Amino acid sequence: MKKPLLVFLAFLLAILAAGCDIVPPLPTASPPATSLPPITPTPHDTISLTILYTDDEHGWMEGQEDGMGAANLMGLWRQKFGYHPDDPHYLVLSGGDNWTGPAISTWFNGESMVEVMNAMGYDASAIGNHEFDFGLETMKSTIATAKFPYLAANMRRKNDGQVPTDLGILPYTILDTGDLKVGIIGLANLITPKVTNPANVEEFEFMPYVETLQEAVPQVREKGADVVLVISHLCNQELRHTAAKTKDLGIVLFGGGHCHETLAEQAGDAVLLTGGPYLRTYAWANLTIDPDSGKLVDAQYDVETNQGGPADPTIAAIVKRWREETDATLGDPIGYLSETLPEGSEPLLKLVTETWLLGYPNADVAITNRGGVRDDLRAGPITIGDIISVMPFNNVLIDMKMTGAQIEAFMNDQREKVFAGGIHQEGDQWVLNRTGAPLQEDQVYRVLVNDYMYAGGGSYQKLAEYDPNGYDTGIDWRQPVIDWIIAQNSTPEQPLDEAIRALGKQKQD
Ligand SMILES: [Zn+2]
Repeated sequence: MKKPLLVFLAFLLAILAAGCDIVPPLPTASPPATSLPPITPTPHDTISLTILYTDDEHGWMEGQEDGMGAANLMGLWRQKFGYHPDDPHYLVLSGGDNWTGPAISTWFNGESMVEVMNAMGYDASAIGNHEFDFGLETMKSTIATAKFPYLAANMRRKNDGQVPTDLGILPYTILDTGDLKVGIIGLANLITPKVTNPANVEEFEFMPYVETLQEAVPQVREKGADVVLVISHLCNQELRHTAAKTKDLGIVLFGGGHCHETLAEQAGDAVLLTGGPYLRTYAWANLTIDPDSGKLVDAQYDVETNQGGPADPTIAAIVKRWREETDATLGDPIGYLSETLPEGSEPLLKLVTETWLLGYPNADVAITNRGGVRDDLRAGPITIGDIISVMPFNNVLIDMKMTGAQIEAFMNDQREKVFAGGIHQEGDQWVLNRTGAPLQEDQVYRVLVNDYMYAGGGSYQKLAEYDPNGYDTGIDWRQPVIDWIIAQNSTPEQPLDEAIRALGKQKQD
């Protein structure tokens, strides 16, 4: 990035030295990072690629705030980068976790989000842990609707050691820009089994990043790739580590994800990018590549906010159609109840917290604030709209770690304000339902809370002090409740009441 400035300074010095008083022309070399990057091939036969990078979209096609959705991002990219989906010198890439999030995406198993990403011209996505959330069969059918590949070179079936291409997952892809073959290798996160339902990934193992790249990079080069990029669901720290350990492989770009961070920096001869969650931000890089060596000649890169972009009409129309479909499902009955569960009652709070644990079985304990559950769940047919009335806030689940002593202290302090699933009291002791054993003071448990509590809403500041690295699952806190109710297949003759009373009673295996 310093090059244009140096050229300009040298030019100025030359003029001054010559004692000449002509006005120097404005520099015509690359503009600074914040302005429009050049996209046409530059001299010396180098080739320019513009990378537009997002991750952890979590279905937020509508944006968490007005003007920050997918349509705005598309408009912004068109305006700022001259982006056109059909121009092969632009690569739109994702670090994964595309789907799990608000109803507009989750209720359609991510298919709505894939349609949006298709229209935005995404070229590839890494596999995030949440791509597994809806089960393998559903994942396969959602991936089948994508016009771009999902990549994870390090995800292997335990029985044959192969990447599960039958599910639509590829180790890598090679894109031809006409003047350059670009190999893109995907990496899933090693902790995937711990941050989705483990049952959905039990037939797979996740191989170490560096070894996987050492194996895959020569393969893509053999298949003709002139230049190699990596997209991944790796947090910044492990992304930097992986880049440092694979310097000799000549990879020019590493994209990350998962930890809801942003990143745009150069490491050796590569650029590292992480776009940040929920389409609120994105990362970009303009790479100038020597096609003979496959190496970077120059690079500009940055992270920017998705703000001020004019809504792209095509994307806006797709999002609007899915919004209408979402709203149309609000009145559909998903179950039946014969007796009203009053606001604040134990069965209602159990329905919330115990279904979180069933939907996210990595956690041991689930704690919600009573104030977030604020309506009766009335007798009769239950609709999704009713669940939204009971749980009106747009919270997501945070997976955090607490010791037994911290859980006890928190529950004893906040007894009036919170309710816990997964544990119960016997005398003075808190007992883990799953094992029937009292909480151990020093043992670390995984606890689900909502993001309002984790962010210190009410007076819950302690939670983030106990664990500053709580994991934002991106899962809407109502989703496990809805999923469980649907799975009971209740009818007016066989209502839910009995099943709700049984929640959390039996030991779970
Ligand atoms: Zn993730």
